[in-house]
Amino acid sequence: MTVGGSVWPRSGEIVRKREPRSSQVRGAVWIATYLLFILAPLFALLFGAHPPARPFWTEFSVARGYSGLAMMALQFGLTARFRYVTEPWGEDVIYHFHRQISLCAVVLVVAHPIILFIARPELLSLLNSITAPWRARFAALSTYALIALVVMAVWRTKLRLRYETWHLTHLALAVAAVAAGIAHMVGWSFYLADPWKRGLWIALTVLALGLLAYVRIVKPLFLLRRPYRISEVRQERGDTWTVVMEPDGHAGFRFRSGQFGWLTVWGSPFKLSAHPFSFSSSAAAADGRVAMSIRKLGDFTGRIDDVPVGRRVYIDGPYGAFTLGNPADLHVLVAGGIGITPMISMIRTLADERDRRPVVLLYGSKTWEQITFREELEALKARLDLTVVHVLESPPEGWPGERGFITAAVFKRHLPPAYADHEYFSCGPDVMMDAIESALGDELKVPISKYHSERYSFV
Ligand SMILES: Cc1cc2nc3c(=O)[nH]c(=O)nc-3n(C[C@H](O)[C@H](O)[C@H](O)COP(=O)(O)OP(=O)(O)OC[C@H]3O[C@@H](n4cnc5c(N)ncnc54)[C@H](O)[C@@H]3O)c2cc1C
Repeated sequence: MTVGGSVWPRSGEIVRKREPRSSQVRGAVWIATYLLFILAPLFALLFGAHPPARPFWTEFSVARGYSGLAMMALQFGLTARFRYVTEPWGEDVIYHFHRQISLCAVVLVVAHPIILFIARPELLSLLNSITAPWRARFAALSTYALIALVVMAVWRTKLRLRYETWHLTHLALAVAAVAAGIAHMVGWSFYLADPWKRGLWIALTVLALGLLAYVRIVKPLFLLRRPYRISEVRQERGDTWTVVMEPDGHAGFRFRSGQFGWLTVWGSPFKLSAHPFSFSSSAAAADGRVAMSIRKLGDFTGRIDDVPVGRRVYIDGPYGAFTLGNPADLHVLVAGGIGITPMISMIRTLADERDRRPVVLLYGSKTWEQITFREELEALKARLDLTVVHVLESPPEGWPGERGFITAAVFKRHLPPAYADHEYFSCGPDVMMDAIESALGDELKVPISKYHSERYSFV
């Protein structure tokens, strides 16, 4: 879709956020660094001693393998949650890129043996792992691990894999694929006869392992030294519990309203058990206390009301680029269900900062009784220039307000008509987000630069 000169995503695609200039520069630097790392091993082949030339398709297939493997090794960096790297885009965009670029890398890596076998069928005997040399066995291991990794990532929900089981297997397969791939390449050593070329690949391996060690050892150690204590667990409307946490022996961190953190409740930060939740408290609080409001949905969230006050927990954050900031005549917040959490943080923060910029909240819920933060939103209207429009899927009898879902017609009924001048923020279930994107882009002709979104389904 093209709107006002900008391209809107198709339904379900990740939406880019508008970035301040410094953030854009930082983003460009990271893209250049990423390309450098991917291309460096290929360019290095052009220098130093050259082995005798081989047929075109052999060289072509080897080049695929080199680039694919370098891309795979860098995936550890993409998912390492470096705030400085992810900030220009937001975590959802980074994870989306991780998924897409991994598929490209896998296609390149798998193309390597396929092209080779077509060009030189005599090499098919290397598929027999009993008789094949170790360097070919490593190649087979790397390829099988990659294929398993893709199948499990793409069909995780269809295969009914528990998230935690999938996550652990995903990591193990990624390490196996990259390690075996590099062992294959260094073992074959056709192009890596020069020690410095070998060194380049070993450096890339060390970098990948270093990133893994950072995420799985250094970062958890850091979190372990900065724990939080649960100071309150309170029930909200809509099967939701707010968990308030205070820093235990440190000052805590500051976040911007709309951001989120990874919460570990049961166990230590070394376990793969952190879950992402938006902060629902005001970002203006100076005492380091933070709150998350969690709806009961699955095995972790379903036990959230069991969490005892006083329990030690760990928060890795803040992350995300879903934040207020750009000036606009009107901020339009669109929330569906538990997608209200970043919005309530924005609204509470505006109230604490006495910021009376005009805000309209379009809030979709199932029933009147299930509207999380209903009474508080009503009370906050007195302190803010805030209009709240509830849209109910199953309204009570005689309900005079909006019913059904949030559509272009709802926007038109409640917003001043200069739609392209307002700044939009949307968070909710995927179906709602797809519908909002199409209503704003296709019908209200809002430029993409005015639209910000947070999808809770990015992992
Ligand atoms: C940026 C972001 C902010 C969020 N903010 C909120 C919020 O404020 N309030 C709220 O109630 N929910 C929020 N969620 C959703 C919340 O993270 C999931 O509902 C929760 O992790 C589900 O866990 P479960 O074990 O209870 O459910 P399950 O039924 O086990 O999992 C349901 C789905 O949740 C995802 N998921 C499960 N475990 C994890 C994990 N450890 N890490 C990442 N994803 C996982 C998977 O896609 C899984 O298929 C947010 C999600 C994201 C990505």
